[in-house]
Amino acid sequence: MDGNHSSDAAFTQRRERMVEEQLVRRGISDHQVLSAMRTVPRHLFMPQDQWEAAYDDSPQPIGYGQTISQPFVVASMTEHLVLTPSSRVLEIGTGSAYQTAILAEIAQEVYTIEYVSELGQRGRSLLESLGYRNVHFRIGDGSFGWPEAQPFDSIIVTAAADEIPGPLVKQLDMHARMILPVRGREPDSQDLIRLTKTPAGIQRETLYQVRFVPLRSSQ
Ligand code: SAH
Repeated sequence: MDGNHSSDAAFTQRRERMVEEQLVRRGISDHQVLSAMRTVPRHLFMPQDQWEAAYDDSPQPIGYGQTISQPFVVASMTEHLVLTPSSRVLEIGTGSAYQTAILAEIAQEVYTIEYVSELGQRGRSLLESLGYRNVHFRIGDGSFGWPEAQPFDSIIVTAAADEIPGPLVKQLDMHARMILPVRGREPDSQDLIRLTKTPAGIQRETLYQVRFVPLRSSQ
């Protein structure tokens, strides 16, 4: 390995360290999530001139004013969905498609919607080239969900809404979970919320503070 070009083995080693230091040490314990985070080559989801920072403990720019989320946030949000190998997941905000790949490692089917068509197309070709066959891509405003593919047993939104989009709540199956950042009182930060659909109604938990780009609206 020289200073500018890291080998696959070097990236694998960095990924191991990322999992130990940023995830296990902070309490991520779901083995499916840890295994997915060890497997997916995070650097490939970023522009090549940023590969050296790919395993840092922070979000990174991916172009079009958007970001790839911090590894801990990706792992933690995935863990809070409590996925199984038979899960059908809807993701709003494909972005780099890194979170998409993590979901696709664990779940049966992943439906992902991205507003910026260049990002959606780039994500699709990258995941196809990495061999994922269980991901369905769509370009558009994800606030309306994916009616033809509902109900979902997990929904994850990776852009911050002012209010919880009603159509997404409707597309949740019974006992399904949705995790999303919602704008709070502070101007810059948001509450990460988890909703669970139960026979008695929608249960709501506030998990912790996060900072995501805004959910865009086509209306
Ligand atoms: N999970 C992504 C996060 C990307 S940032 C990753 O780790 O790479 C959030 C993404 O949501 C951006 O790509 C943005 O374009 C997209 N987005 C914003 N509003 C949206 C909407 N209404 N529908 C679909 N995607 C949206």
